[in-house]
Amino acid sequence: MPCVKAETTRRTFIGTAAATGAAAALPAAAEAKKKSRHRAPSARRADVIVVGAGLAGLNAARQVVAKGRSAYVVEARDRVGGRTLNADLGGGKVVERGGQWVGPTQDRLFALASELGIGTFKTYNDGNGVLVYKGTKQTFSTTGPLGPIPPVPDGLVDAELLIQRLDQMATEIDTKAPWKAAKAAEYDSQTFETWKQANTTTEGGRYLTDLAFTSVFAAEPRDVSLLFTLFYIAAAGNASNVGTFDRLINTAGGAQESRFVGGSQLVSIRMAAQLSKRVVLRAPVRRIVTSPGGVTVTTDRGTFRGKQVIVAIPPSLAGRIDYQPLLPASRDQLTQRMPMGTVIKVEAVYDKPFWRDDGLAGYTNADTDPVRLTYDNSPPDGSPGVLLGFIEGHAGRVWGRRSPADRRAAVLDNFATFYGEKARNPTRYIETLWADEEWSRGCYGAYTPPGVLLDFGEYLRAPVGRIKWAGTETADYWVGYMDGALRSGERAAAEALGDL
Ligand code: FAD
Repeated sequence: MPCVKAETTRRTFIGTAAATGAAAALPAAAEAKKKSRHRAPSARRADVIVVGAGLAGLNAARQVVAKGRSAYVVEARDRVGGRTLNADLGGGKVVERGGQWVGPTQDRLFALASELGIGTFKTYNDGNGVLVYKGTKQTFSTTGPLGPIPPVPDGLVDAELLIQRLDQMATEIDTKAPWKAAKAAEYDSQTFETWKQANTTTEGGRYLTDLAFTSVFAAEPRDVSLLFTLFYIAAAGNASNVGTFDRLINTAGGAQESRFVGGSQLVSIRMAAQLSKRVVLRAPVRRIVTSPGGVTVTTDRGTFRGKQVIVAIPPSLAGRIDYQPLLPASRDQLTQRMPMGTVIKVEAVYDKPFWRDDGLAGYTNADTDPVRLTYDNSPPDGSPGVLLGFIEGHAGRVWGRRSPADRRAAVLDNFATFYGEKARNPTRYIETLWADEEWSRGCYGAYTPPGVLLDFGEYLRAPVGRIKWAGTETADYWVGYMDGALRSGERAAAEALGDL
């Protein structure tokens, strides 16, 4: 095969050379006309070019424009919103295929939604939760002191003590520089799994910890460093409220507390409407060239020139762009080491949320496969009924390789175990495999295995000359969440504006 390729290349070269020779013989006027017909469209110019029209990129561009500077946002997909995406249910109703919830201390997201005229409503959380564990099903109150944590025999006290210890350790972490923590080397030399094994005593405690962990990271405890876990917990707050594990996993009082009327993607859609023609879709960025004179961004829809560029995409995707001159080795090695989580989000739509009639909240914790966690994801008026299930981490990897029919059958089997036979017959079934998405390649966000934050963490958001980094992974609060994406866009815009 290499010989054939070499031959083709030589022929192509010869053909090109011959064409050039023939063109030289054309009269000058005809040649000029031909050239103008084939000239590449001229580059579009702005002060700041933003890569990616997710929440981070769009918010960055808004800040730039608000300061009277010009911006273009170049986006690979044919839509805005990135990891947020509405699915139309008809009749003006939607559910989300991606990010959706908002909760206390996510103040950037609340403020922006309110500015854009987007309301919120509480996640349905009335009635009991369901626990399916070791083949036994029971219901439990989700409004007790332990919130969403189910009464797994022998596990509750163990898990609660573990959470308290984690919260305490997380207070040692500065979310702007977790790698500077006094015990950073110790914490980043082990996975969360290693630490969990050493700090739990019961099978039930380990089950509860694993369930909570995979629901937050869409990855397994064995994948993620302890330091990154503590960073994430510390980041689940804001400048005046210290981060807590409970805030990550709770519905009432936590990150799953509320939803957006009209769906979370509406936040990006409204920002993009304000930015109007400054947002260019179907324009994947392939190359970024910086020089003393500025920055040139090459996309599939032409070239964009600016003074600064904000790259607002997940680190692993940022590592796939061709940078000239080359990025510092440590920045590139960081992007080689920040994998995305794995999640399949499934939603079964029914005429009504029939589980509510049985006094159930639609919230389940289970040790089943593939779905271990469900929520009631119905629109605000409860019509139609929508059951949401997550397939996360290891299960997401295994079940992502199975056929859609196999997956659907297994999911509905789980739903029937949790909520009865009616669950087998949805009117519609929606599933989204985020690892299959070309411009995400996984979700909810990126994480770091041991050693990465310690040796490469400082390159996560440190600008490289005219290149500034945004995206939720670079946030200092609510890293991995929509709120963190907005915060990162704000910071990167300030950096770019400061250097204009
Ligand atoms: P992205 O949304 O990934 O935006 C990056 C954009 O860049 C994308 O539009 C992408 O198409 C584009 N892009 C990529 N590469 C290129 C390129 N080379 N050239 C041009 N464009 C490119 N968060 C919450 O707060 N609450 C939740 O309940 C929640 N649940 C979630 C559930 C799921 C199933 C998923 C998938 C995510 C969830 N999240 C949640 C996470 C949240 O959606 C993300 O943290 C947030 O949307 C990230 O925004 P971003 O702008 O940083 O990145």
